[in-house]
Amino acid sequence: MSKLLEFKHPNVNFFNQIDLTNYSTMRLKASGDLFEVTNLDGLIGLVSFLSHNKIKYGILGWGANQPLPFKSELPFIKLDFEFDREVLSSFESSYLLPGSISLAVLTSAACRLKLGGWEVFSGIPASLGGAVAMNAGTGLGEIGQLVQEVHYVDSSGALKLHHVSDSSFSYRKNNFLQEGDIIYQVVLKVSHLQADIDKKISEYLKYRNKTQPMRAATCGCMFKNHNGEIYCRAGETIDILGMKGRTYKNLRISPVHANFLENLGGATLDDVKEFISIIQDEVFKSTGILFEPEIKI
Ligand SMILES: Cc1cc2nc3c(=O)[nH]c(=O)nc-3n(C[C@H](O)[C@H](O)[C@H](O)COP(=O)(O)OP(=O)(O)OC[C@H]3O[C@@H](n4cnc5c(N)ncnc54)[C@H](O)[C@@H]3O)c2cc1C
Repeated sequence: MSKLLEFKHPNVNFFNQIDLTNYSTMRLKASGDLFEVTNLDGLIGLVSFLSHNKIKYGILGWGANQPLPFKSELPFIKLDFEFDREVLSSFESSYLLPGSISLAVLTSAACRLKLGGWEVFSGIPASLGGAVAMNAGTGLGEIGQLVQEVHYVDSSGALKLHHVSDSSFSYRKNNFLQEGDIIYQVVLKVSHLQADIDKKISEYLKYRNKTQPMRAATCGCMFKNHNGEIYCRAGETIDILGMKGRTYKNLRISPVHANFLENLGGATLDDVKEFISIIQDEVFKSTGILFEPEIKI
């Protein structure tokens, strides 16, 4: 019997070896164990149990940056904390929000309450915890610039609080979480009251919908952009080398934006790894640059 079945808590649901295909935006064929946690007491209890039994785990937000494995050896933890919508009913200079809340809910609050600065994450499919862990961002800025405090449970089950400083975030990563740390709430600040933020967000979303495959099954950008004078933008480089639209098994380099890999249906993580390595090799042979994956594989 799996040791995981021994853990019992009223605020934790355990799903034994389930289909995880729809737990990631790329919808790769995937399966594994999943714990869904609905409050902090449950999270502390679960992580303490896993730590005591030396069981490692993965953390799942929206799976918008995580293509999931065909058969995961690690159980996943996913948060689904209750959220009192009253918190986002009036303009404040900062908000304490659960890590499981979706950025789409925050974007709609930004439009309604004129929360200046919150346009930086418009259009990013993510949970707040996943976005903070990745320092998600757009052409308008990064979420790290809005984060004041990060409340998390560490891999032993202890409560921790990180006060954000200038060195807390860099490009698409945080510099303070250790493996197994789980963000359960975040304080996001508002820089100013911005009357026309809804217009700004709506224009930006129109632009994204035109230039990125927002409806396809992807995990966002495949590769990080590279620092340098030439070939620094991964998508542009793949496009210049004539690979845009190329297919491999059930995968396709998006014809809309060459840094997105689309699952045409039924692809697996192994297929993704193979295709990524083919693309990396071809780019390296032509440019001498090894693009580093942005997606978490
Ligand atoms: C169509 C599309 C467009 C995208 N556009 C952008 C973009 O413009 N900019 C951008 O930055 N990204 C973009 N992405 C990628 C993705 O949305 C971001 O990386 C986002 O931050 C992932 O959040 P998530 O909740 O889905 O996290 P997941 O993908 O589930 O997890 C990502 C990482 O965060 C960790 N994590 C998740 N939740 C927590 C938590 N509560 N505590 C601690 N660690 C956690 C996971 O362990 C994993 O390492 C895009 C993705 C798609 C599919």
